[in-house]
Amino acid sequence: MQEISGKTRVVGVFGWPIEHSLSPAMHNAAFAALGLSWVYVPFPVPPDGLRKALEALPALGIVGVNLTIPHKERAMEYMHKLTPIAEAIGAINTVHCLPEGLLGDNTDGEGFFRPLQERHYEVNGKNALLVGAGGAARAVAYTLARKGVKKLTIANRTPERAEQLGEWLRARCPLLFEVEAISLDCRSHLHAVMEEAQLLVNSTSVGMYPHHEAEPPIPPEWLQPNCLVYDLVYNPMETRLLKAARARGCATIDGVQMLVWQGAAAFERWVGQSPPVATMEAAVRGKLQGV
Ligand code: NAP
Repeated sequence: MQEISGKTRVVGVFGWPIEHSLSPAMHNAAFAALGLSWVYVPFPVPPDGLRKALEALPALGIVGVNLTIPHKERAMEYMHKLTPIAEAIGAINTVHCLPEGLLGDNTDGEGFFRPLQERHYEVNGKNALLVGAGGAARAVAYTLARKGVKKLTIANRTPERAEQLGEWLRARCPLLFEVEAISLDCRSHLHAVMEEAQLLVNSTSVGMYPHHEAEPPIPPEWLQPNCLVYDLVYNPMETRLLKAARARGCATIDGVQMLVWQGAAAFERWVGQSPPVATMEAAVRGKLQGV
């Protein structure tokens, strides 16, 4: 790490809790690799402190921050401006302090999409099953819609939330594609959807440490080898779902890749240059192997 001096530029992350965030290791490894005198600091910001913490950013000369649970939606009202993608998704994960005020952005969709692009996976015209309907699902669903998915099925434990996400999507991407919302309990319907799905995305927290032994949300025996399986969970890196998918010959993408690419996009906004993505990924994987 570079020596901290009066010239050091500061970025960071606001969350509550924040002590397990992998972002400081990821960004500080990138700064070190590029020899930049920048530092990324985790800030424990409670919900009732969010407004004051955001307002203090320009006075402290902080370049920008990431936002994580529980701030992504509440922070929108304190922004001077929103990027079109943040406005569309209705949540921000990246704040940039500009001379005219705070700019709220969302890099989750980009973070989700870049690993698909890196492997030249064409979303256009595909049938996709998205399991989950929470905050991450919104960025995923919106991105898949914009990238031309043919049919998207959203399956959630609480079917009303899947319906709401479907309605939200139809309002933003009218006539673009077919969307259906179902309950995770509709097993025969879900099985039929899986027979035709070329992309399965798990955006639920099922499989996440410390409940990593939980049954995957989709039975492994339903996985077809032509289906790409993408799990947003990154701890553990190889979830039970991904392990089963690999065993059945499916291509897989783990949650570390999305985490790294959403961070890389934020880095690029703040620093104005491309980060060493492989270094960032190695830092995250190193941390996760150590836990
Ligand atoms: P969220 O808004 O709280 O949504 C959680 C989702 O998981 C909901 O759909 C919820 O269903 C479902 N769920 C929770 N427990 C379940 C269970 N036992 N059985 C079935 N469904 C269950 O959370 P989020 O922010 O979307 O995050 C979801 C996951 O994505 C987390 O594991 C998070 O770490 C991961 N994530 C990864 C990245 C990355 O960069 N890799 C980025 C964002 C999120 P209900 O609606 O029925 O409650």
